[in-house]
Amino acid sequence: MSIPVSTKSYIRNVVTKTGGIYIHVPFCQKRCIYCDFYSTTCGLEWKRSYVSALKREMLLRRTEIDASRVPSLYIGGGTPSQLPASLLLEMFQAITDNFTLADDAEVTIEVNPDDVTPQLIDTLRQTSVNRISMGVQTFSDELLRFLNRRHTSAQALRAVQLFREAGYDNISLDLIYGLPSQTLEDWKHDVQQLLSLDVPHISAYALSYEEGTPLSKMLADGSVEETSDELSWQMYEYLMNEAKASGMVHYEISNFAKPGMCAKHNSSYWDGSPYLGLGPGAHSYDGENIRRSNDMSLKDYIQASADVPHETEVLTPEERYDELVMTRLRTVRGLAFGLLTPEQKSYCLQMAEPHILNGSLLKEKDTLRLSRKGIFISNRILSDLMY
Ligand code: SF4
Repeated sequence: MSIPVSTKSYIRNVVTKTGGIYIHVPFCQKRCIYCDFYSTTCGLEWKRSYVSALKREMLLRRTEIDASRVPSLYIGGGTPSQLPASLLLEMFQAITDNFTLADDAEVTIEVNPDDVTPQLIDTLRQTSVNRISMGVQTFSDELLRFLNRRHTSAQALRAVQLFREAGYDNISLDLIYGLPSQTLEDWKHDVQQLLSLDVPHISAYALSYEEGTPLSKMLADGSVEETSDELSWQMYEYLMNEAKASGMVHYEISNFAKPGMCAKHNSSYWDGSPYLGLGPGAHSYDGENIRRSNDMSLKDYIQASADVPHETEVLTPEERYDELVMTRLRTVRGLAFGLLTPEQKSYCLQMAEPHILNGSLLKEKDTLRLSRKGIFISNRILSDLMY
């Protein structure tokens, strides 16, 4: 059970900790049918007001992390590349005014392929952005249309080329597998197309049917069918094999990187590091047991006169244990028993035993890790291990 605490005690607990920053940009030109992230399709006036409100939130909450050495900044959404150049620059100026990025800071921005133009890249060159994350999802134009994505496969290829020509090599591309009607051959084509681009980072997610999305309604009314577990596994296994053959490390359930190119910011989520989340719908974490979620309301965010509407919760020891299981076991490093109390370790091992015996979990000296077999049924295993 979560216990509400005051913002004051949250701030007291997180002050001066080194942590990354996440900024949620809640705008999309149109909504993809599978997506449940918080975003709106509001126009320019709302974007202007959002950036003003973001600047106010930065000023108000900058002391929640050590603002003098920020190791990572992630601008996500929504679609950050939907902000016009002047607002993007204003946002980055506010970041510079309030925070000092570490010399080796990773600064990522999410972009949509069809927003990528020489003008956008010129704008990004005036900022600290040094990493690009782009949602390609599939190279099938038919499936892109079905998903209500705005871009085409040719635009995705062109976007990568434009970034490369501008000197941006640190590019991460997202794919989704298990799309309705997608065959194994379709997926193999997507994977080969992606790998031929030779980007240093790939994220691949199984399609999920999130409650309230148009896609989940289509599933309920029978107009689409879920991909079978067997086909999903074949798709995932193909990706794992091909990414490995290309020299990529499978460092987290959904993430693959060339050596030394793991995402710093995302890794901090799985490592349990603190982070400051700004913008409507953004989450923050103190690195111990306190979480904060900004409300998913652009209107309330803009209209707030002081701190923006949010909820804060203190994790109980049981919730903290569950989070450790959920985050650490997703990674190649696994769950270190040293993070658990003796009681939690004993509970964890008791719950893990059947999975260790059937080879889905690997118990090493001080760590528990998912095996290759276990990765595919990770949701079930994680849920079995949790309180
Ligand atoms: S562009 Fe991204 S954030 Fe916007 S609806 Fe599509 S998947 Fe969601």
